[in-house]
Amino acid sequence: MNLFYHNYLIICFINASQSLISNISKYLFSQILNVCLNYICILMKVTEHIKKGNGKTLFSFEILPPIKGKSIDSIFKILDPLMEFKPSFINVTYHRSEQIYRKKSDGSFERVEIRKRPGTVGICAALMNHYKVDAVPHLICGGFSNDETENALIDLNFLGINNVLALRGDPPKNEKFYTPHHSGHHYAIDLVKQIKNLNRGIYLESEISEGVKTDFCIGVAGYPEKHYESPNPDMDIMYLKNKIDAGASYITTQMFFDNKKYHQYVKCCHDAQIEVPIIPGLKPISSKQQLSTIPSVFHVDIPSDLAIEMMKSKNEKDTEQIGEEWLLMQVKDLIKSGVPVIHFYTLGKPNMVYNVMKKVL
Ligand SMILES: Cc1cc2nc3c(=O)[nH]c(=O)nc-3n(C[C@H](O)[C@H](O)[C@H](O)COP(=O)(O)OP(=O)(O)OC[C@H]3O[C@@H](n4cnc5c(N)ncnc54)[C@H](O)[C@@H]3O)c2cc1C
Repeated sequence: MNLFYHNYLIICFINASQSLISNISKYLFSQILNVCLNYICILMKVTEHIKKGNGKTLFSFEILPPIKGKSIDSIFKILDPLMEFKPSFINVTYHRSEQIYRKKSDGSFERVEIRKRPGTVGICAALMNHYKVDAVPHLICGGFSNDETENALIDLNFLGINNVLALRGDPPKNEKFYTPHHSGHHYAIDLVKQIKNLNRGIYLESEISEGVKTDFCIGVAGYPEKHYESPNPDMDIMYLKNKIDAGASYITTQMFFDNKKYHQYVKCCHDAQIEVPIIPGLKPISSKQQLSTIPSVFHVDIPSDLAIEMMKSKNEKDTEQIGEEWLLMQVKDLIKSGVPVIHFYTLGKPNMVYNVMKKVL
């Protein structure tokens, strides 16, 4: 090999190495940037998402933890296609334990307490890890002592979850009225106050003098058609205002099928000096049976136009199509009126939500 060729090879090698190093460093830099961006994106509060949205309507989904014994893959199966729409956050519901009577081998019955859908906190962490999306766990008062609630909040804080939807919870299935745990909260406002205290570093044990201050963004529930226990809409809004004054930063509404009710509700809230974002909750309605189950379970009306159209439908596919068109109409109207977020109660019908989202995005 002559000297010229030897030198030429060395220069080529140096150039290739430089370009390789530069490409590697560019790649590493972009990877680090991605990790940072993901980290920044997934550690945002609901209110920060809304602020960053700058007036654009955002989307969020709500899922239930799987029944005990089922895999988290069932959740990923629901969410995988929906992630195409880049939801700003995903809510995960909380389910209290129930008392059931189980038959023993001798024929007698024993009363046992079971939790059918555990895992809310774990699912939130899994969603954040798997999809790099913010998760909003629901926390309920029913069935929990204040101490258990504090421990759950500490777990959430350790996991970097800084959003919580604070709720009272419903009575267990076999009971008519809500009764609090003997050392738990009566109303959602008491839970809001407990979370707010933790944000100030105030723990239940007074010996903890310089406790870590958490930084939870607290959401609460609102009812455009009034909460079923409330004597009248005005008192319901008065209690809602108290929850905001106690430290909640936004409201997510119960499902509704008539947008007029949502718009009227927002107006009543404004009249009552409630200034926080009011996120409308929408549920796809997909079967004739739901025309009676939804009003009885959620205490909301189904508009006559929708109910009559659905009753006329000839098969399940037609019924679903009608429900989908109704949902699309609601979504388009809400986007037009500039709502901050549309929250989908995704539950068992992710395909309907998917089809509607495909048409609006
Ligand atoms: C967006 C959303 C998500 C939900 N997620 C879940 C979930 O994950 N798990 C679950 O179990 N349930 C869930 N629920 C259902 C909820 O727990 C029930 O609707 C429950 O009955 C009320 O909860 P709340 O937080 O609105 O209660 P609260 O705000 O405590 O209100 C309950 C009732 O008491 C009244 N009230 C409030 N304060 C007072 C007071 N000081 N004195 C007298 N009356 C008062 C209110 O007007 C209302 O009628 C959800 C509901 C919504 C809208």
